[in-house]
Amino acid sequence: MYIIMLGAQGTGKGTVAGLISKETGFPQISTGDIFRQNIKEKTELGIEADKYISQGNLVPDEITVPMVTNRLSDKDAENGAILDGFPRTIEQAQKLDEILAKSGKKVDLVINLTTPREELIDRMITRRVCPKCKATFNTKLHPPKVDGICDNCGETLVQREDDSNPEAINRRLEIYEEKTSPLVEYYADKNVLRTEVISTSINRLADVVSKEIVEFIKSK
Ligand code: AMP
Repeated sequence: MYIIMLGAQGTGKGTVAGLISKETGFPQISTGDIFRQNIKEKTELGIEADKYISQGNLVPDEITVPMVTNRLSDKDAENGAILDGFPRTIEQAQKLDEILAKSGKKVDLVINLTTPREELIDRMITRRVCPKCKATFNTKLHPPKVDGICDNCGETLVQREDDSNPEAINRRLEIYEEKTSPLVEYYADKNVLRTEVISTSINRLADVVSKEIVEFIKSK
């Protein structure tokens, strides 16, 4: 089953994708994580991508699409995957349809996470990530058991560079509205969209939502 996580930055896509991955066994493919790993290792791809990411802009399709195509051809993704951060534009969604169609596959489910805007910025500022196993925490909503340390692998947690830069935060939210939000209609038209609200105001967070989605996936 091929699942896409949609939603503005800070909604909890990574957290929900991670929980679904753990329960279903489908790999979580996060384009942001792949870029960050490449930036850390100073690969050619990482150096190029960092020019865009540090400013909160999208990395061009010439770099992003082949990277996703390669990752989807790995053995662990042959029966399904959870795409977290791709597609982000209608063009990328069309490319993804083409990539999957080549092996007789399609997008089966799109989970659209929505969160009130005022909560999103706070969540980005309080997000902490594990540079080693990529787990995501939040100092307020989902703190690690030991302050600043990853629950899974014991690594010291860090703040993403683009989460500590107010201009990059605003730019990412602007790009989401302009380029990514049209995907909601794109996938609604294909009858694969499932929208979920994640908000502290209604006490509905990633754990509850993920559990319901896992039950839904297993019932399919
Ligand atoms: P994320 O971890 O999903 O928030 O992604 C971090 C950054 O990586 C984004 O702000 C973009 O600069 C870049 N990025 C991730 N996925 C894509 C994509 N599908 N297309 C273009 N840029 C991307």
